[in-house]
Amino acid sequence: MTIPYADLAPMHDEIRGELTSAFEGVMDRGWFIQGNYCNAFETAFARYIGADHCVGCGNGLDALTLVLRAAGIGAGDEVIVPAHTFIATALAVTYAGATPVLADVEPDFYTLDPAKIEDKITPRTRAVILVHLYGQIGYADEIAAICKQNNLLLLEDSAQAHGATYKNHVKAGVLGDASGFSFYPGKNLGALGDGGAVTTNNAKLAHLVRNYANYGSPTKYVHKYQGVNSRLDEIQAAFLQVKLEHFERWSAGRTALAQRYLGGIKNPKVVLPKLNPNSTHTWHIFPVLVDNQSAFQAALAKVGIQAQVHYPTPIHLHEAYLNLGYQEGDFPVAEHISASEISLPIYYGMTNEQVETVINVINQY
Ligand SMILES: *Cc1c(COP(=O)(O)O)cnc(C)c1O
Repeated sequence: MTIPYADLAPMHDEIRGELTSAFEGVMDRGWFIQGNYCNAFETAFARYIGADHCVGCGNGLDALTLVLRAAGIGAGDEVIVPAHTFIATALAVTYAGATPVLADVEPDFYTLDPAKIEDKITPRTRAVILVHLYGQIGYADEIAAICKQNNLLLLEDSAQAHGATYKNHVKAGVLGDASGFSFYPGKNLGALGDGGAVTTNNAKLAHLVRNYANYGSPTKYVHKYQGVNSRLDEIQAAFLQVKLEHFERWSAGRTALAQRYLGGIKNPKVVLPKLNPNSTHTWHIFPVLVDNQSAFQAALAKVGIQAQVHYPTPIHLHEAYLNLGYQEGDFPVAEHISASEISLPIYYGMTNEQVETVINVINQY
């Protein structure tokens, strides 16, 4: 018996016909970049998020980078980033030409700690990237207040939080000045390849992001900026539009699985994720914390349960970022999560029997 960490097949099997017709629609139209399918998906996704503007782009990393560049952030500037996140959050700052300045996360929801931000602010600080890690929104209001007070851009990294809502039902994607989304296949809303998008209520920023993503070109062969090529192609946009129509049902499926885990796992050695009363959780990842991470993961693997770790190394301890000059011990909460987190299998179509198996194995551990 194997319980995979994730499986996209149950979702895609349900809508195989719709995906095939979407593909044929694009083929028949014969237009593959910057066409009606991308426009239609941008409109639909903006409406879903409740944002005034959505600009499709190549992937989640580009979405974040494009916002920073469009906001004029680059060489000599600093951007505050959580020490515990997927490395793309920090790389976006690097690609924009600015310097990532790390701040520790908080132990409640594992997101950026508002109490750790203020002493990281210098005259060079231009922005803060708030990551809705694992699919839950943390202290967004507190961080927005700090950004406002210090005149900093607030960029959300919503790559794991499609559809997560905060106080008053406001969705991730409009809690700051702009937000980056990823449609990597394994994300909750995933394309059948790479894809990404920026959402914002700022028309000027949206316009600049669109230009930067298209060779810095507002009109064909007019190049105002040194932009890049990062566009959401028609085929992926067509697939995403189909998947967006089914997204709420699939999200409800993930939530039901998470509820089973939350109600069923009763082992004092296993710390369950805490729910933020101010946020819904998309359960992109179901994280538990344990003392002996590798032994726990091995015990699950021994009975065929494929668990993962997100992420085994905090940003400051990656070889890629040794140049930032941080050391072990600098971000204790991030280091603790990296050393103790285990992500349990969770995906639409996972059966109740599979979930119960995982729960029983954990309770007997
Ligand atoms: C996946 C992810 C990204 C990057 O998205 P890509 O589409 O893979 O470039 C950025 N930030 C976080 C938190 C992610 O999980």
